[in-house]
Amino acid sequence: MKRCLWCKQKAVIYMREHRLALCKDCYPKWFLRMTERTIKEWRMIEPSDKVLVAVSGGKDSLGLWFALTQLGYDADGLYLDLGISPGEYSERSKEFALQLSQRIQRPLHIVKVADEMGKPVPDLAFASNREPCSACGAVKRYLFNKFAVENGYTVIATGHNLDDEAATLLGNVLRWQIGYLARQAPVLPERVLGVGGEQGRLVKRIKPFIRFTEKQVALFTILNRIPYIEQECPFAVGAASLFYKDLLNKIEERSPGTKWVFYSQFVEQIQPLLDEKFPEPELRPCTRCGMPTTAEVCSVCRIKERANKLVAEVKP
Ligand code: SF4
Ligand SMILES: [Zn+2]
Ligand SMILES: [Zn+2]
Repeated sequence: MKRCLWCKQKAVIYMREHRLALCKDCYPKWFLRMTERTIKEWRMIEPSDKVLVAVSGGKDSLGLWFALTQLGYDADGLYLDLGISPGEYSERSKEFALQLSQRIQRPLHIVKVADEMGKPVPDLAFASNREPCSACGAVKRYLFNKFAVENGYTVIATGHNLDDEAATLLGNVLRWQIGYLARQAPVLPERVLGVGGEQGRLVKRIKPFIRFTEKQVALFTILNRIPYIEQECPFAVGAASLFYKDLLNKIEERSPGTKWVFYSQFVEQIQPLLDEKFPEPELRPCTRCGMPTTAEVCSVCRIKERANKLVAEVKP
């Protein structure tokens, strides 16, 4: 049995990629230290920033919210009620988010997608003709940004971990999605529209957990006794990202540390070149909602319009 490298107690984790075994007391300290190091290294949060955490009720976002407050950041949460399996998935995940909000004494804002968009995520996804996760992702990014702009938040933090990012990278590489690759980074800086007033802003986005695997985040959350929703979103079943995660875990098994090298070398060496060579098209205000977009009408307004049109056609 392995012993903790720091205090010699019984270890609860051995991280082959770091050649480091830690016990239940030392591991959370190491985890917080690594989180802080990532934040500083990437200049994710400045002292004047107001941080909004995208809270889903899962282990990553709750672990992130907890870690940020432990590190002394005044971070508030925003929970988007997606309206998935009403009474079950969305309701239960909201309960976990509320529990943590009470424990850390930080406000949790709650926004219902159906109130903002006229329909919950499953209906929007159906109407959009896109994969559910693609429509859901677009709606979530839009509403988080809108809320942050309207409420003076300057940074949006999400709980994406190394497994998420490496799987997304693999998916983008397999299809050579250059536009997505050019913008896959731990920090997406703020972008401001020359015109468009207060709404004309894309708030800075950060991913402070990119250094950790899914298992490492889960252990941090469990050791801090933070209950979270374990049930997967019903739309996640069969998603390509789960298959890619599985493949990467198999590679990692044979060659520890590969996941991090794959992702970090891309971010350090390739992404800046792509970003320079393929700059994002000029942003302009959406003619419907005023939010920044590269098209005349933003993708979320298009999804919303299609969903409403579908309802109008179905009604006798
Ligand atoms: S799995 Fe897909 S549909 Fe479910 S919450 Fe995540 S992005 Fe949305
Ligand atoms: Zn220890
Ligand atoms: Zn719009």
